[in-house]
Amino acid sequence: MVARVDTDGVVLRTTAVGESDLVVALFTRELGRVSAIARGARSSRRRFAGGLGLLVHSELALARRARGAELWSLEGATAIVDHGGLAADPVVLGHASYALELVRELAPPEAPDPVVLGLVLELWAALAAGPSPSLLRAFELALCDELGSAVALDRCAACSRGDDLDRGAVFDPVRGGAVCGACAPGSRGLGVRPLSPEVRRYLAAAATTPLAEAAALVVADDERAAARDLMLGFVGHLVGKPLRSVAFVAQVHAGLRPT
Ligand SMILES: [Zn+2]
Repeated sequence: MVARVDTDGVVLRTTAVGESDLVVALFTRELGRVSAIARGARSSRRRFAGGLGLLVHSELALARRARGAELWSLEGATAIVDHGGLAADPVVLGHASYALELVRELAPPEAPDPVVLGLVLELWAALAAGPSPSLLRAFELALCDELGSAVALDRCAACSRGDDLDRGAVFDPVRGGAVCGACAPGSRGLGVRPLSPEVRRYLAAAATTPLAEAAALVVADDERAAARDLMLGFVGHLVGKPLRSVAFVAQVHAGLRPT
């Protein structure tokens, strides 16, 4: 039996196989995260008509011969909106790549989740105005929330109380976010860091701001850097290995600002 699914989605990663094919990791509206083989994608550029580019929202036709087979076959891909121009700015490219890597690593396979696809598309739309750390924080927090790993910011991840977070609080990726002063002695892992009220409020604001408005969230440089480090620690704990795009973004920044 051949199952056919027509849906829309984005490419998370492509891997060359053989002389002419690609294995494509996709995030689709109807199927969630899937892997598909795109036969002839490398030998004929016309075959998929630009629908397999990085940062392209595409109409996708997928087929699978046997239920439970891991690989789908990509029968067609047509660009709906091509955001590939974003890649001209290396920082924007880095942020977009980081977002795709997070979806690739954190979204479970074949679990339909239109909200996740919507977040990626909202991120790309917002990145047209330029890179923004607050936008990236809003994306991370919304993605983690959608995938069942919401970051505790308004209540203690250990005791659920919300009234003791401004004195002696820490951020503990393993326990799930903010940990109040009373519970902080129980947080002893390597990733545990102090959590100032300002950083906590900034992240809480980012968690509830639509991506289209997140770039307007302003914060002092030190607090922005602290929030970034906390969130990288959080997603790093979820993923369980170093993220390649983080090293790329760091390299880009080092190249732009050699300080
Ligand atoms: Zn507590």
